Parts: sequence; C-alpha cells; structure tokens
Amino acid sequence: MTSRYLAELISVGTELLRGEVTDTNAVYLASELPLLGIELQAMSTAADDREQLCQLLRQAMERSDLVIAGGGLGPTEDDLTRDCIASVLNEEMTVDPDLEQQLRAMFSRTGREMPAHNIKQAFIIPSAISLPNPRGTAPGWWVEKDNKTIVALPGPPRELKPMWKNEVIPRLRLRFPGEEILSRTIKTFVIAEARVSELVQPFFQSDNPTLGIYSHPDGIHIRMVARGDNARQLLDTTEAQLEEILAPHVWGKDNDTLEGIICGWLSRRGLTLATMEDGTGGLLANIIADTRESSNCYRGGLVVCSNETKAAWGVPPEVIEQHGTISAEVAAAMAVAVRERFSADFGLGTTPVASTDNPEGKQPGLAFIGVADANGTQTWQQNYPPTWEGVRNRAAISALFRLRERMIELKLNTS
Ligand code: AMP
Ligand code: MG
Repeated sequence: MTSRYLAELISVGTELLRGEVTDTNAVYLASELPLLGIELQAMSTAADDREQLCQLLRQAMERSDLVIAGGGLGPTEDDLTRDCIASVLNEEMTVDPDLEQQLRAMFSRTGREMPAHNIKQAFIIPSAISLPNPRGTAPGWWVEKDNKTIVALPGPPRELKPMWKNEVIPRLRLRFPGEEILSRTIKTFVIAEARVSELVQPFFQSDNPTLGIYSHPDGIHIRMVARGDNARQLLDTTEAQLEEILAPHVWGKDNDTLEGIICGWLSRRGLTLATMEDGTGGLLANIIADTRESSNCYRGGLVVCSNETKAAWGVPPEVIEQHGTISAEVAAAMAVAVRERFSADFGLGTTPVASTDNPEGKQPGLAFIGVADANGTQTWQQNYPPTWEGVRNRAAISALFRLRERMIELKLNTS
C-alpha cells in the first residue's frame, strides 16, 4: 500500500488577482504533481499582502504534507514569501554569505552594482536550503520542518520551470517515495473535444491508466497517466487502442510539435518550404522558425496584408479581382507564388480571416489555406467563430496540419 501525499499550491502576486498576469505556473505545477504520486488538494492565490499570505501558508501547512508557493521572491518590499514562511515557522532570517556572494557576482558579471534591496534574495532560515536559479536573481527555498515540506519558487515561468525540474523533482522523489507513475499524451487535430470525449468514453471507467482531455491551440490532447510496475505496458496498450479509435486525427505525442514533425520530414529529404501569410500575420513564419530543424528546410516567409503587396509578390491581380482576397483561389495563388519566388518545394498560403464588416461580404470567420507543391495545389476552407481571439493561432496550426496531410499523401512522412 502506498502512502497518499497531499499537496497545496499558493500563487503569490497581486497582478494575478487583478487579471494582469495569467497563472500559468499553477497549471504547469498541477499537471506535474500527479506524475510524482502527489495529490494536489487545493490551489489558491494570495495578494502581495503579509497577513493574507501568512494566513494562507499557515492553513496550507495544517492540512497538507507539501506546500508549494510560486512568486513573491523578488527584491522589493511587496515580495513577502520568504518573510511569511519564516514567520509561520517561527524562524529568523539571516543573510547567507555564500548566497550574497553569488548574487553580487551575478550582478558584476553584467557590469552592474547590486542594488541594496537585492540582499533580501540572500536571506535564508535554518530549516531552508536554497535552490539555485541560473536564470534570475531569486533563489528558491526547500524547507523541511515537522514532517512538512515547503517549496518556494520564483514567479517568472522561465525561472520556475527549470528550478522545478532540476532542483525540486529529485528532492520530492526522495521525500515522497511512491510507485512509478508515467504519463503519455496523444495529440489530435480537426476533431472536437466533445467528440473525442465521446469516443474515448469507455476508458474513463479505468482508474489505471486515468485519462484527461485537454484543449490546446494545436488540438485536443489526451493524456494518460499510469502507475505501478507495469505502468509502461499499460500506457503502450492504451495508446494503441486510442490511436485506433482516433486514427485519422492523431498527429503526434508527448513533445511532438507539427512544425517539428514537418521540418524533420522535409530536412531528411533535402526539401524546402516557404510561406505567404495575410490572416496569420507572420505567426506561421514565427512558429516554423522556432523549431531548430527549420534552418535546414525553411526558405522564408512573406506577410502580405494588401492586394498590392500580394500582387507585387506574384499573386495575379485578376485572381484577386475575380474571387476576392478571402478565397480558395487566392490561398492557392499565394502558395504557388511564394513557392516559385523562394525556389521552395512547398508553398503555404493563408488568406485574411473575414471580419463581420469585410467589404467582400464573405461570411465572418471564413479563411482559406493553400498548399502548393510540384504536382499542383490544394486548398482548405476554414470556418472560425468570428469573434474567437485565437483565430490567427488556429489558422497557422491548420496550415501546418494541412501541409502534414499533403506530405503523408505524397508518402514523404517516413523517417
Ligand atoms: P515574483 O517572483 O513575484 O517577483 O514574480 C515576477 C513575475 O513573474 C511577475 O511579474 C509575473 O510576470 C510572473 N509570474 C508570477 N507569478 C506567476 C504565475 N503564477 N504564472 C505566470 N507568471 C507569473
Ligand atoms: Mg510578485
């Protein structure tokens, strides 16, 4: 019988309560804890307010084995996480000379004098050990006292995540040993969340592996979490069953990205890609350029937001005139033009997304994607909810997904 460990999460920062910053740390940490066999039983948000934060910490420590606080480790007056942990544990904070020296060294490396306030970040209490933060000035704290564990992490996600992975997880595994827990995610596109849920319904009966369905910009993800000695085998079996049920919609798993997959296939064959965008405003280029392998296959992209610029880059004006800029024909012509101009094997084109008052009188939310290759062109029509803010993102991902489909059709998808 394995122990049941209970955890609690406190996000610290008035900006979170005001809706100025989205609490992505909480989502991240909540998705990590099940893999450690630790049950998250509560999440809360505290303002940068001493009384409120101390009270939340005290309450969390009473009912949970592990308390994780994110944020409030900065150098300013309103960064109170350290103060409150010290106060709740009745311990005194002192300056750790090693930490102070590291902080000063960090500042002098960038040619700056350490502001006096930053000394706060060298404070420590007897029950805490400090967790290094190579990406910022705020070290974390790992605290063990009276059978309770408190972890304090810096607020910026780019600092919190590596500290969690490198410093916290190994310590948690020792402190809260349990059975092996593994997870795997299957990624789908062009299928509604409700439909996925319907199709995988029978799997929800099982408590090992458990299943979660999540909506992401790149589609619906199905996450399996399995535990015990045969966790890996359970995941393999369930993954195979789910893939069969969801087959045409599955495009990847775990850390796969559409752009990574596509650039991998292209690069391996020495093939290239170019893009011409209107509605996606450069987002498509940005997504592709973000993947390391793009340097081998991505020839570049154009953002053309007027009919004149489209024409200047090779989209025939008569096609625009005849069909309107929000049309399959223009999407195809954009893909063809950029493929030629950039001497690429594949061209991708995205038309504008029709707004409610578009002069062409097209249905709001309508957009087109074009893919061109040596054999001709293919186009897809997209119908987005007109007010949906994620339209650009969705259209860019759709373009990648369609290119992937085309490459599979051309049998260019093998390693
Ligand atoms: P702090 O550690 O409180 O100094 O946090 C510094 C910055 O990290 C804040 O200004 C936010 O931009 C960001 N941040 C803090 N908490 C979170 C959170 N829970 N999720 C995402 N970003 C956060
Ligand atoms: Mg803060």
